[in-house]
Amino acid sequence: MLQPPPAEPGMMEEEVDTPALILDLDAFEANLDAMAALLAPTGVKLRAHAKTHKSAVIARLQMARGAVGQCVQKVAEAEALAWGGVPDILVSNQVVGAAKLARLAALARIAEVAVCADDPLQVVEIAAAAEAAGVRIPVLVEIDCGASRCGVEPGPEAVALAERIAASPHLRFGGLQSYHGSAQHKRTPGEREAAIAHAAEVTRRTVEQLRQRGLDCPIVGGGGTGTFALEAASGVYTEIQAGSYAFMDADYARNEAPPPFRQSLFVLSTVMSRAIPGVAVLDAGHKAVAVDSGLPLVHGRPGLRYVSASDEHGKLLVEDGAAPALGDKLRLVPGHCDPTVDRYDWYVGVRQGRVECLWPIAARGAMA
Ligand code: PLP
Ligand code: MN
Repeated sequence: MLQPPPAEPGMMEEEVDTPALILDLDAFEANLDAMAALLAPTGVKLRAHAKTHKSAVIARLQMARGAVGQCVQKVAEAEALAWGGVPDILVSNQVVGAAKLARLAALARIAEVAVCADDPLQVVEIAAAAEAAGVRIPVLVEIDCGASRCGVEPGPEAVALAERIAASPHLRFGGLQSYHGSAQHKRTPGEREAAIAHAAEVTRRTVEQLRQRGLDCPIVGGGGTGTFALEAASGVYTEIQAGSYAFMDADYARNEAPPPFRQSLFVLSTVMSRAIPGVAVLDAGHKAVAVDSGLPLVHGRPGLRYVSASDEHGKLLVEDGAAPALGDKLRLVPGHCDPTVDRYDWYVGVRQGRVECLWPIAARGAMA
């Protein structure tokens, strides 16, 4: 159930109740503008990933700056966006099971909705759902371009699956999904370049083999915040799927030559105990900030280090002279932005210290 917002427009940030998810609007808008400016000369389009922001409001701000649509990972995210007026959505993932596919097919009546497949059985199920709903669904073939997560082998196996899709009267062949997830956080530029050079090469080969069989790829999609410039320069990809660039996080900041975006997302927390010498405790533990990619950083307070997270407590080590006061509100930089957003109902949009807007995080939660 959506909780009431933790703030009201016009409040100062210090008055916002905690834990709360703060979006620094100046930094956020600068990130959207920067991505649009970086991609414009390449001719490659942005289909930003909404698994990060889970918000039709943010989707529409990205599209106002030229994004052609949105990616999502789950049907529930596609629903939140389509019901919020987003017209063009790619589920950059597999969807299995009649109930979910029926929901997906129902959405295809109000938005352009495409989905990925890496198995002939999925294609049969998607076609059945599309037929039952009286719609035609574009299906992209996902290839494994190096991450060994999902995707058929590039080359003949991908071509065979594409031919099955193209042969169905209820489907359209939508192109290739070729995302290299594990390349995003490879720390050195050289490692990222090598991974995406390989991904681009196997993708290029598969596009060519499809063309020889008379199948054009309307979309060749991939690329996240860590590598998008490489996919965009490859001459193979037509769409970039970056999501985290809008917010950033401490893990992306640890990349050497990190992506050129500002930290815009913070968890605001309150110092609730300082009973132990050299320690301060925040009301933001791992239920308030994701720790799967490392602990959060305390923003703008160099003498404070977040050293452990329990359910509702975040423990800080305090250097001499850096002690916060009881009740102080501190901004945390999350280790990983996407699952942190998923813990909140609202973005509290802040500009220069004052709350400007509250946006619902409509697609949050575990529903698939
Ligand atoms: N595309 C796909 C298929 C993904 O799974 C992800 C993230 O895991 C992304 C794009 C976006 O990645 P990022 O948020 O790192 O930009
Ligand atoms: Mn992520």
